[in-house]
Amino acid sequence: MTPTGIRYISSREQTMQDRTGALGRLEQVVSTPEEFERVVSQALPILLERATNSTKRFLRETGQWCDDVAHEKFALRWGAEYLEQFFIAGRSEVPCRPLFLLDAVVAKQHSRPEPFCYHPDLLTPLGRLIDGLVSRAAISRDALIALYYHCFGLGPGQVITVLGLTGPAGQRIYKNFKRWRDSGWQRTMDDMGITECEVQDLCSQLQRHPQPSNSEAERIIRIAQSHYRKSEPDHYPCLSRRQWEEMFLEGYGSDYRIWHLALCLDCFTAAWDLGFRGAAAIEKPRVEFHVRP
Ligand SMILES: [Zn+2]
Repeated sequence: MTPTGIRYISSREQTMQDRTGALGRLEQVVSTPEEFERVVSQALPILLERATNSTKRFLRETGQWCDDVAHEKFALRWGAEYLEQFFIAGRSEVPCRPLFLLDAVVAKQHSRPEPFCYHPDLLTPLGRLIDGLVSRAAISRDALIALYYHCFGLGPGQVITVLGLTGPAGQRIYKNFKRWRDSGWQRTMDDMGITECEVQDLCSQLQRHPQPSNSEAERIIRIAQSHYRKSEPDHYPCLSRRQWEEMFLEGYGSDYRIWHLALCLDCFTAAWDLGFRGAAAIEKPRVEFHVRP
């Protein structure tokens, strides 16, 4: 089982009794990698909550906490990140007590000089820009919709078609685009400290070397997407082509489509032609990164 394949189930679905039982099992010694996987897989919501709460506590104690959605999602993403590290490390740490091993993994991260150390690729100018756009998308719908433009160059009409939206849900897309162009993009650049000079450099780099720049952008987009998708771990997991097809045909889950397809290249590619309902045979989308809105 790979960490990215983890299907989180809602913690609300677990009764208190299940929780106490699961906590008890997590405190006992597991002796083989298989046993570790089994015990841990059955208790993912509990472990995610624990890692997220430790992260919140750490942020509070270090004066970096604020009661808002952005911070809640930040703590949740890092909780999920630590849970993945724990899942990978745990197999080779047996015999161990899973609950205490998770605490140790999290504490080790929090005691590093740069505790939320980031992927080095996200520290280049292009990486910072993409990271900033995708991180904003985790908390702002305008930024989320704008990803379809920044990553693929799609305009509002195309976004509506590709996502199979109808009625008011479609109308909102035009407003999202307008607000992003009017002010959202500039505010995001300012917040990230990306200067006009850097924006110009990136634009000319994309113009001069479109192919290598776009494959570099695609690589970074994947890294950022997989990190920020952890903002909604139990709500919008990846689906198979069949499941997407059903959703498009039946017309439900417009929030699911909007959110997940903006943040998952693989599902976006898989679901790409479903919104066209066979009307147009358009080749698979490729990353064509746009710096400006
Ligand atoms: Zn996906």
